[in-house]
Amino acid sequence: MSEIDQDQVPGIYHHRIGDILVTALSDGYLDVPLDAIRNFPVDQARDVLTANCRPVAPRCSVNAFLVRSGGRLALIETGSGNTMGPTLGWLPKNLRRLGIDPAKIETVLLTHMHPDHSNGLTDDAGAPLFPECELVLHEEEVAHWHDDARMARVPERQAVRYFQGARIQFAPYRDRARLFRSGEVLPGITAMPIPGHTPGHTAYLISSGSESLLVWGDVVHFPDLQIPHPEACMEFDSDSAAAAATRRRVFDMVATDRLLIVGPHLHFPAFSYLVRDAGGYRLLPEPWRFVP
Ligand SMILES: [Zn+2]
Repeated sequence: MSEIDQDQVPGIYHHRIGDILVTALSDGYLDVPLDAIRNFPVDQARDVLTANCRPVAPRCSVNAFLVRSGGRLALIETGSGNTMGPTLGWLPKNLRRLGIDPAKIETVLLTHMHPDHSNGLTDDAGAPLFPECELVLHEEEVAHWHDDARMARVPERQAVRYFQGARIQFAPYRDRARLFRSGEVLPGITAMPIPGHTPGHTAYLISSGSESLLVWGDVVHFPDLQIPHPEACMEFDSDSAAAAATRRRVFDMVATDRLLIVGPHLHFPAFSYLVRDAGGYRLLPEPWRFVP
């Protein structure tokens, strides 16, 4: 019997929203220790994951989203570059598989600046990987990570990983940054600030014709736990109480509006609906689309 090629299909998945083509691109995944969870008992988290046939070190997909609209190329999130180990950093390879040169990407939008979203902005030498793009993000996100007083209040490890990391990634793009507070940031893409996980955390609503898609950012990191238990937070939330309140508010909105969602940390390829279920919510991943 001849050898069977056991490579998985690339982490690339297309979905058309009206005239806009949205392509989910996997940057890989991270298995996160349970002790990163806050405001929820670890034993109970282990029980919830086990009941859902999930590993007890919850697997966190890391996704980015390429948006092609009117001949323009925009990328939402940049993945983690080479900074978070071998299970992450696959975004550049998946862009190449699509035949896309990062130099051709005109706009990079970020939901926020955390290593798994913004460390892919530069290479190991600190040179920009998207040399022609403008960088679009919430003004409070840039202000927060550049605030020395706030940096002085966090443990050294967080200061290096989050504050200094964000400054390193932002520096080569400073002259090409476009900061917003809310509203339409590109044709068909509207910024919806949802602070809590970070101060400038932002969702993007992509709309064309009668169709819409909400890129909801880090509303959840572990969908198997946080969708049934929205009170569960993460140690790297800037403000846990605000993050949990935002999560409930966004859950209510997308369930009420029956809005298609994707997230950087929903299991790839991430396109899903959220429905109300027995006093809580249930995530319904969209069936595989054979055409975009
Ligand atoms: Zn994240």
